[in-house]
Amino acid sequence: MKIFANNKHLKSWIEVEKDSDFPIQNIPFGIIFNKELSPRVASRIGDFAIDILQLFKLGYLDDLAFTAKDFDTSYLNNMMRFGKIGTRKLRDRIAVLFDESNLVLQSNKSHLNQILIPIPDVENLLPVEIGDYTDFYSSIEHATNVGTMFRDPNNALLPNWKHIPVGYHGRSSSIVVSGTPLHRPKGQQKPKADEGPVFGPCKMLDFELEMAFITYEGKPLGDSISTKEADDYIFGMVLFNDWSARDIQSWEYVPLGPFLAKNFGSSVSAWVVTLDALENYRISGPNQEPKVFSYLEYEGDKNIDIKLEVLIQPENKEASTICKSNYKYMYWNQNQQLAHHTINGCNIHAGDMYASGTISGPTEDSYGSMLELSWKGTKTLKLKSGDERKFIEDNDTVIMKGYCENNGIRIGFGEVSGKILPAK
Ligand code: MN
Repeated sequence: MKIFANNKHLKSWIEVEKDSDFPIQNIPFGIIFNKELSPRVASRIGDFAIDILQLFKLGYLDDLAFTAKDFDTSYLNNMMRFGKIGTRKLRDRIAVLFDESNLVLQSNKSHLNQILIPIPDVENLLPVEIGDYTDFYSSIEHATNVGTMFRDPNNALLPNWKHIPVGYHGRSSSIVVSGTPLHRPKGQQKPKADEGPVFGPCKMLDFELEMAFITYEGKPLGDSISTKEADDYIFGMVLFNDWSARDIQSWEYVPLGPFLAKNFGSSVSAWVVTLDALENYRISGPNQEPKVFSYLEYEGDKNIDIKLEVLIQPENKEASTICKSNYKYMYWNQNQQLAHHTINGCNIHAGDMYASGTISGPTEDSYGSMLELSWKGTKTLKLKSGDERKFIEDNDTVIMKGYCENNGIRIGFGEVSGKILPAK
């Protein structure tokens, strides 16, 4: 099925800056509100939010399957019940209405005043009601770095790593939208091997540069989703900062894995970029050797070329880029992750979120965590502001950005930013 909105020749009658993440070919979905507007479903072109509830009320979506309650809501989950075809039709309709060749909406000033809101005049909420959240560990560079630091450089990857897209079930209650500050977590740590544990604020606070995908409603309990079917069950993606307390993590993680080191907060970007919008940026993934089980085999290019960047901004100072990576480095792609997640019959729901795991690249400036960038705190990062960092300090803001670009079309995610406040 051809996706109208992906046509590179489309141009919106809304002015879009050349380096904007939100041309007419993006059309992401999110939730906006302000003093006058109750929370509602919206999209975005350039620096304008598009009020989709209002578009619906004015009759522009009349022949689509949606009802007012799908847009008059604090979450995208309602509109996601129409699945891939439903959301694709909605995205295509918005592209039609906002293309410069279409005068219908463009020439109706009174409707425009009701539908378009400048981005600075709206706030975003968490876009989806997240039922379950899973975090994978699918970057071979990251897993190799961590294995090298904590175990054995000669056997950095555990024996299962190239056979299984390793993951764990995280906590959804503490996932917050970009701009939400978080307090430094407190917990148990064991800084000295020959002494007992201590309790207090985390001293090795870290970020993890990740992407996350969000699913539609899945199949009944007991059924599986194949790598071929996976694209039809994936709605879209967001930037994901999996905040991590390294000192708490290293003491608590045996034998059941991460717990309080991770569940104090994760931050996501506000606009969900649909998987449809990312189709033109597919790229082949790394060669997988040894050969994977047949349920993990896949056809076609399933990695995505998303350029990623992390910045640290000390309070009231200039931000510095400390890492540039790319989602294309993922060893296990998201089709394989979803196939693996459901091969045992585990059911998934609309709004569930699946993070990639830290996305590190092959070079030292492409590592997606402070743990790797400072090599466990043995190296110091110099920031443009003159400050130095090994881990994240109080009142630092961590900003992640991501975008795809080819044929002169840039599809981006905006950013996910989060400030760390002192421990409570
Ligand atoms: Mn993680």
